[in-house]
Amino acid sequence: MIGGGITAARKLLRSVFGYAAFRGTQEDVIRTLLGGGDALVLMPTGGGKSLCYQIPSMLRRGVGLVVSPLIALMHDQVAALLEHGVAAAFLNSSLAPEEQRQVAGALRRGELDLLYLAPERLLREETGTLALLKQTEIALIAIDEAHCVSQWGHDFRPEYLGLDVLKEHFPQAPRVALTATADEATRQEIAARLRLTAAERFISGFDRPNIRYTVRMKGGPGADLAAFLRPRQGQAGIVYCLSRRKVEATAEKLAQAGFDAHPYHAGLSSAARRRCQEHFQRADGVIVVATIAFGMGIDKPDVRFVAHCDLPRSVEAYYQETGRAGRDGEPAEAWMSYGLQDVVRLRQMVDDSEADEEHKRIQRARLNALVAWCEIARCRRAAMLAYFGENYEGACGNCDICLNPPRTFDGTVPAQKFLSCAVRCRQRFGAAHLIDVLRGNDTEKVRRHGHRALSTWGIGADLPARQWHAVARQLVALGFARVDAARHGALVLTSRARPLMRGEQSIELREEARAARPARQRKPPRPPAPEISAEEEPLWEALRKRRAELAAEARVPPYVIFHDSTLKEFARTRPQTLDAMLDVHGVGQAKLERYGSAFLDVIAGASVPGEALPVR
Ligand code: ADP
Ligand code: ZN
Repeated sequence: MIGGGITAARKLLRSVFGYAAFRGTQEDVIRTLLGGGDALVLMPTGGGKSLCYQIPSMLRRGVGLVVSPLIALMHDQVAALLEHGVAAAFLNSSLAPEEQRQVAGALRRGELDLLYLAPERLLREETGTLALLKQTEIALIAIDEAHCVSQWGHDFRPEYLGLDVLKEHFPQAPRVALTATADEATRQEIAARLRLTAAERFISGFDRPNIRYTVRMKGGPGADLAAFLRPRQGQAGIVYCLSRRKVEATAEKLAQAGFDAHPYHAGLSSAARRRCQEHFQRADGVIVVATIAFGMGIDKPDVRFVAHCDLPRSVEAYYQETGRAGRDGEPAEAWMSYGLQDVVRLRQMVDDSEADEEHKRIQRARLNALVAWCEIARCRRAAMLAYFGENYEGACGNCDICLNPPRTFDGTVPAQKFLSCAVRCRQRFGAAHLIDVLRGNDTEKVRRHGHRALSTWGIGADLPARQWHAVARQLVALGFARVDAARHGALVLTSRARPLMRGEQSIELREEARAARPARQRKPPRPPAPEISAEEEPLWEALRKRRAELAAEARVPPYVIFHDSTLKEFARTRPQTLDAMLDVHGVGQAKLERYGSAFLDVIAGASVPGEALPVR
């Protein structure tokens, strides 16, 4: 409501949010909205989408409407804005009638800069919200998580389809749609359905450089979740499993091992799910073990890892789920363990679903693309970005492949052996049995089917079973064979297998990592941890403790008071005055006034490194 252009926007960035400069396309988006233009913003998670509409809402006359799908999170978003001294409110069914009247009053008096709403609230006649807003000056309309309008997507929300009417109701208000979803088809769908085809597009790169990608093969080295988590005690994270049963079992195991771990899935009561989500948002170091029912709109910046104990459904889904890690820009991990059995189960789920054939075909292609990504022998980041149509030069140095390049070998002969064994077994068996036949294992199943008589029996004794599993996975990943869910995961050859079997083509395969022998085991790479030196540690802990107290008093998550990165900078630079504090990343005027002295006291109370502790 202050008025002014991009200079005023920069001032607000500094004085309210405590940041020195805009990032990426933020400034251009803000300029467009301030000028009254529409915008379509694609920015990776953590890129800073919120400021793109928050700052113009504060600068333009009237209130900025923010349409967001998850009412559970509005409370925290608004709380964070209030901490910054921004006049914000939300309207949803969780408010008591008296509170709703207060918000309506503030709206009528033009006191609000931002109002958060769920789409159904806005559009349903009986709530009277639209009528109320039509008497109010609207600064802009922001549609967050705009990919929810896409019927092909995994987050489809039917209510989003109704949002196209906003253009008619509020013709003067610039509109901005924001999403972190990467693919072009979804972009077009968003633009068409929200009537934003003429909007200016702002597309940022999708790289999340602070996320380290690691893929492990189930049963192979490094595939144990507990071992991955052990050095990460105290860090917040999400663990995804495919089934509810596994979610329950995993959560229990982790809880017994001393982690603050909790299950989350659609079978729990909504109260239990809400408690779990709140605990995750509010407390430090919580692990949620979940089916994919958890995560959409999780707005916690300090999630340090996202672990998948089973294969997700697509590269898109994987990108989005792992994107919940490290929104604060600090180092974070995306870890996955998978096996061919996961592919079988996911294929089965697609086949059994109610979707039409076209939809199923797309789902299968997406799953195949993910399997191929899991099995690649080059930089995962480059391959993932290539999948989204983005060019990434070189290798990232921050994925398992870059950090520990797998060896490759000419796999033509093993591949031929494997494929012909599948043919001899009449393409009716899964990888485990084929490997038994190849390795000459005299199992009950082998005997029952008379497979000792096959010409391929025992021709693969030269390779260990684990390597054969890797061959099988890679043949699927490279499209030479597919798993047939209708036949219980039988491996079936594709048309691509022919030239390979005839020797007209050769293939390069990844060598399966050998389990490291304990004596020669390399030290695991240090988990990305906050770069706090031993000297700074006590002060950092004291600052965190104070933050937790303040957060509990204000009933907000700790990061709403100050982010980790801000506390770390306090610990490193030890500002002695409020003025000096203002130079620290993330310290704006309102927070300085509210919390500055509390943290100054903590800093003053800490001993200076190297000095002896005062003797009492
Ligand atoms: P997104 O919605 O795109 O995932 P957010 O809007 O939540 O991202 O922003 C992610 C984090 O980055 C937040 O902690 C936010 O305060 C911070 N941030 C946003 N813009 C800037 C900036 N220009 N400089 C520094 N930090 C920023
Ligand atoms: Zn890499």
